[in-house]
Amino acid sequence: EYAEISIKDIDRVANSSFPLCMRHLFDKLREEHHLKHGGRMQLGLFLKGVGLKLDDALAFWRVEFSKKVGTEKFDKEYSYNIRHNYGKEGKRTDYTPYSCQRIITSTPGVGDHHGCPYRHFSEENLRAALSKMGVSSRTADDVMDKVRHRHYQLACTLTFEAIHSCSCDAGINHPNQYFTESQKILQ
Ligand code: SF4
Repeated sequence: EYAEISIKDIDRVANSSFPLCMRHLFDKLREEHHLKHGGRMQLGLFLKGVGLKLDDALAFWRVEFSKKVGTEKFDKEYSYNIRHNYGKEGKRTDYTPYSCQRIITSTPGVGDHHGCPYRHFSEENLRAALSKMGVSSRTADDVMDKVRHRHYQLACTLTFEAIHSCSCDAGINHPNQYFTESQKILQ
């Protein structure tokens, strides 16, 4: 069970407790006021997992997308998918947030921002993103070593440990687990 979070908390918890894959999507959404389908799914289901209620989710996406495509187009073309993710449309399946395994094996194309940065970023971009998160260059070297051996989740675990200054013995296997572990430490 996840605690509820509301829109006013999003920026704070994004900074403190989102794993890099979700931070990247969040930043891109704020920057470009748009995300392609794969990104909307990956971030949208994650946010649902961290406890963002449907009404807040609609408001959150609407604010950003309206700046790019306008409110009318958002309501017509994008809100359905969000309600769908919450099981309110179509087959009414309650979709679950993606695991690391699923995200790592996804294949983002040009202009996509979903995927796992440890797997899909260039070394240069990954190092820049880690530094922005406050990871030292020495730790970044260790992270890159894991990446080179294709241990992406271990690379993410090292990042988690560096940012939270404590060990994460369970290892990271799900973005929502990363979030929960982080909140446990910070609260
Ligand atoms: Fe996200 Fe998992 Fe990759 Fe970490 S290892 S960035 S939580 S997909």
